[in-house]
Amino acid sequence: MRLHCWGSRGSVPVSGNSTQCYGGDTSCLELRSSRDYLIIIDAGTGLRELGIRLETAGSNVCHLLMTHYHWDHIMGFPFFKPLYSKDTVLHIIGPCLAGKTPISVFSSVMDNPLFPNQFERLRAEINGYVLPEEAFTIDTVLVETLPLRHPGGGAGYRFTENGKTLIFLTDNELGEGGSGGLDYTEFVHFCRDADCLIHDAEYTDEEYPAARSWGHSAAGQAVHLAAEAGVKHLSLFHHHPERTDAQIDRLVDTCRNQLEKLSADIKCSALAEGDRFVI
Ligand SMILES: [Zn+2]
Ligand SMILES: [Zn+2]
Repeated sequence: MRLHCWGSRGSVPVSGNSTQCYGGDTSCLELRSSRDYLIIIDAGTGLRELGIRLETAGSNVCHLLMTHYHWDHIMGFPFFKPLYSKDTVLHIIGPCLAGKTPISVFSSVMDNPLFPNQFERLRAEINGYVLPEEAFTIDTVLVETLPLRHPGGGAGYRFTENGKTLIFLTDNELGEGGSGGLDYTEFVHFCRDADCLIHDAEYTDEEYPAARSWGHSAAGQAVHLAAEAGVKHLSLFHHHPERTDAQIDRLVDTCRNQLEKLSADIKCSALAEGDRFVI
């Protein structure tokens, strides 16, 4: 699988000199199967630029998997240019939360008077599906899910192809303030031996006590999950909107020190907009 990050910021998009390295766009990942089939994960503001790239590349059939529907994960949707082409076929899969399916969420956020172009007028063929509990495949990629510990709920994803595994757990509170979702031990089981774990690290360990129950993790909690699950690479995600590039670098250094103390041979980095790697 090949991964391209189009947005790794959390909560709200940001801009400015102090965030140029890790980027200001919110949650959006491009995952390509070995046969180059496109799976998009989340529709944060990073989706806008991905859409521009797809337009020039001529890709027109893809899946969009949603973790949940908080603003920072859906804001890019109305600005995704392929929606305005009749040649596009988009399959959207997401959890049913508060009785809302992915299609009902996107049509309501584009309704009058919130957006000038209503969902019903989009030219693309759009098919919506509620995320099943059991595993399923998209092209050659096996997709497994689990419920997140996040206000309002959400879905975490495990992608496997050719023996390689990528885990995406954002908007997930591993700490004791986390509500909903599973016990901590079940997250360890879900992440077991993964090649790459991308995990929410919105807070520093020092900030977490004041943010308990808000639905996000401290970086140190992600470190412990990675160590206990024996993953090969931990990638920090959902960067706090006020976190500067220099502060994210320091957060990564802190995590590397914690991993060393745990004698865990795990690569650690923070996911930046524009990052690409092969899993
Ligand atoms: Zn979020
Ligand atoms: Zn959220």
